[in-house]
Amino acid sequence: MRHVTPPILDSPPLDRRLATGLHKLGLALKHQTWSQASEQGLSPTQGQILAVLATDGALSATEVADRLGIGLPTVSEAVTTLADKRLVRRTPDTRHPRAKLLRLTAAGIRLSARTRAWPEFLTQAIGSLTHTEQATLLTALMKMIRALQVQGQIPVSRMCATCIHFRPYVHRGDAPHHCGFVDAPMAAAQLRLDCGDHAPAPQEQQHTTWARFANSA
Ligand code: SF4
Repeated sequence: MRHVTPPILDSPPLDRRLATGLHKLGLALKHQTWSQASEQGLSPTQGQILAVLATDGALSATEVADRLGIGLPTVSEAVTTLADKRLVRRTPDTRHPRAKLLRLTAAGIRLSARTRAWPEFLTQAIGSLTHTEQATLLTALMKMIRALQVQGQIPVSRMCATCIHFRPYVHRGDAPHHCGFVDAPMAAAQLRLDCGDHAPAPQEQQHTTWARFANSA
């Protein structure tokens, strides 16, 4: 029987197709955020501010802007509305006498529990991947986030790659990394993208750590 060679598909390059896939995920996330926010009577920015205050505790407006990667005027405008709705209150910042910290009120805490669940639909989709696929995706995401941070496209996040405690590929076996904060080995699947114990490493250490991580991953 004669074999027929299938025609070569005229596909765009792999990096372009991956960018298209990520763009679709971004659109889905944006759509979900908009529809959930309007259900709660909030703008997406207001919902994100509630979520970050619920996760990280009291923060200054500048710290909120840095965490979300948006401008201070946008944060200030959203906080004014949140304060009018009695979801956020301003309290003295003991670190700076004339500055204020933003805190959730009791009503803000209740509402933030709902806004924090917004990315849940993505978590369910990620659950369709195997554990190995999830660990590979986590490493890939970390590399992409780092590249976007270096380009100045997104704010620096509190991920292992920029942490003073992170030592990549120093162990053999399934947990090759080391977290000096808890003094324990870490598997690829345990890498953190937003860690409360993160402490920024000096720039030179970040470069060295990143070179070792990226070249060995
Ligand atoms: S403290 Fe957190 S960010 Fe730093 S290495 Fe440990 S797990 Fe990673």
